[in-house]
Amino acid sequence: MPNPSLPNDQRPVDATIGGIGEIAALRRILPRLSSGDAALLGPGDDAAVVAASDGRFVVTTDLLVHGPDFRLAWSTPFELGWKAAATNLTDVAAMGARPTALVVAIAAPPASSPALLEGIADGLREALAALAPGAGVVGGDLSASDVLTIAVTAFGDLEGRAPVLRSGARAGDVIAHAGTRGDAARGLALLFAEATDAAGEPDANLAAALRERRPDLVRAQLAPSPPVRAGVIAATAGATSMLDVSDGLARDARRVAEASGVDLDFSSEALGGDPDVVRWALAGGEDHGMLATFPAGTEIPAPFERIGRVVAGGGRILLDGREAGADGWDPYSGWDGRAG
Ligand SMILES: [Mg+2]
Repeated sequence: MPNPSLPNDQRPVDATIGGIGEIAALRRILPRLSSGDAALLGPGDDAAVVAASDGRFVVTTDLLVHGPDFRLAWSTPFELGWKAAATNLTDVAAMGARPTALVVAIAAPPASSPALLEGIADGLREALAALAPGAGVVGGDLSASDVLTIAVTAFGDLEGRAPVLRSGARAGDVIAHAGTRGDAARGLALLFAEATDAAGEPDANLAAALRERRPDLVRAQLAPSPPVRAGVIAATAGATSMLDVSDGLARDARRVAEASGVDLDFSSEALGGDPDVVRWALAGGEDHGMLATFPAGTEIPAPFERIGRVVAGGGRILLDGREAGADGWDPYSGWDGRAG
């Protein structure tokens, strides 16, 4: 961030993104990134060239806007880059594809320090290395905006497999899940409860103190480590349907139930047993775990664990055989009480 004690005209010219300009900013960012194994031509020309040996590619995009999607008082630039990569990688993985490449467009306030862009680049690189080794950033764009905005488009390789859709679950299938359940939502609830000022605005000092107390839950929200590799594992093991859990298990499971024309019956014991744990598991979004169904008799592959079964029906979510209310679990208000 610029030194607020210096008047604008006394700041060194390289202290802001606007001061150094787009070309110099790119020169600082690109050496921090790898273009990955699938890049036949990386950044530097009009467009990149990415191998798609399968003859098809999976593509998805996600937009992160300061305000609705993140707050700089809570997230470091590194965490923004990390989360932007992680959420796109899970969407690719949820199709049963191996992530290959990202393109990243950033619009940043010109008065920001170049360290903002460097931090985002570092987070992108480290998330790719940790969650999807071999995938890289093959291109992107920089622009100026009063509102920091990060747009990521991700590509993936099906490697000859059929894509795993939301519509393939069949009665008798096993429901399985890989990853954390509810941690990201618990982290967000803590941030709102303990890291906002009297006016309800995000506060960086309070967030720093909260990080000391609950590093696990804060990290689950701000820089999650979803099981990206589990997507290919599930597809290879014969998953009949799959998605990544962005809005909570109940809401996302309902998408599978509706697309497949079945009911999904969760086991409260398998979800943790304790009612509070079950409530967070079903209602909590943003963990980006993988929810998949497998034919009965399939040996469920690690890191998946069995959490329920698919039954005949039509778009309903059940818990221990009892129907959830029409709205099911709402990530903002929790259980609607009707299944009591
Ligand atoms: Mg998704």
